Amino acid sequence: MFDTPEAQFAISAVREAAHLTRRVQQEMVTGALTKGDKSPVTVADYTAQAIVAKRLGDALPEARLVGEEDAGDLNATDEGRATLAQIRHFLSAAVPGVTNDEVCQWIDRGNAAAEGTFWTLDPVDGTKGFLRGEQYAVALALIENGQVKLGVLGCPELNATLATDIGGTGSLLIAVRGQGTYVTSLTGEGEWRKLTVSECEDVKDTRIFRSVETAHTNTGQLGQLSGAMGVEATPIPMDSQAKYAVLAAGGGEMLVRLLSHDRPDYREKIWDQAAGSIVVEEAGGRVTDLDGKPLDFSHGTSLTENRGVLATNGKVHQAAIEALRAIGA
Ligand code: AMP
Ligand code: MG
Repeated sequence: MFDTPEAQFAISAVREAAHLTRRVQQEMVTGALTKGDKSPVTVADYTAQAIVAKRLGDALPEARLVGEEDAGDLNATDEGRATLAQIRHFLSAAVPGVTNDEVCQWIDRGNAAAEGTFWTLDPVDGTKGFLRGEQYAVALALIENGQVKLGVLGCPELNATLATDIGGTGSLLIAVRGQGTYVTSLTGEGEWRKLTVSECEDVKDTRIFRSVETAHTNTGQLGQLSGAMGVEATPIPMDSQAKYAVLAAGGGEMLVRLLSHDRPDYREKIWDQAAGSIVVEEAGGRVTDLDGKPLDFSHGTSLTENRGVLATNGKVHQAAIEALRAIGA
């Protein structure tokens, strides 16, 4: 299963990157850092992008990568150089003898143009969750002419049973267009297990996922939406594309990215949605924007033609679209 060079690269690169982010977290977050210090997530972000880019260059040298990070001034300021030293420290476990120049070259391999056929990477999706010790994900996807063809999510804090609680061995999901969505443990033991979305079609029983960060959604409108759907249960907060993983596994029926009050013009980044959306679709679910339009990945690094995101098990999708329309979302 998944024996194409693309699938094999994506599985092993995400697994390796997720292990590195975990190492960063163990050494830097669990240590005595002061609250509000963002450096662990910066180091984890760069380290994960560097290893994925390096492995891509080795496995598929012609392939292009659009990553969230760029090496920018890692070599230009004292702070940058200190960060670079830490990235190199973590990377050297995977690539002994790695140099500063190599680190920067690998990270900047992620600066390709988002057109035609390319990979897109969010090295640490859910940075706030990473810092809180909650959910985050390494998210990698292959896009061909505006459509996601393959997606892999590495979720270090999500058990392979994909229960919503935090911790455990971590999980790794892959979805290939037309071939389904599968999960295994991040550590690599055990079989692949096929995922299918929830069968629930009773709209009032919809379990809804939302972002933890209130700045990334609209909590007032979320209440209105639940009300319009007749849902009484409060939405389940969860960081990152781990939400899509749990949805694909049938642990909920819907997730919605409403437009926040302070940034109504915000448009989703492709690396925040590509892997998660195919994981849900290939598990039998449906993913559109708030207007019911398919996500269109052919407009560069943002989903400029889409407002927000609605992902469901399919069965409650139409009711959710109607409720969104009714509340004017
Ligand atoms: P979540 O884990 O659901 O909070 O989503 C995390 C992602 O939300 C990050 O990767 C950001 O790229 C993205 N994000 C940042 N600002 C906004 C915003 N104003 N509205 C929606 N998403 C945002
Ligand atoms: Mg992200």
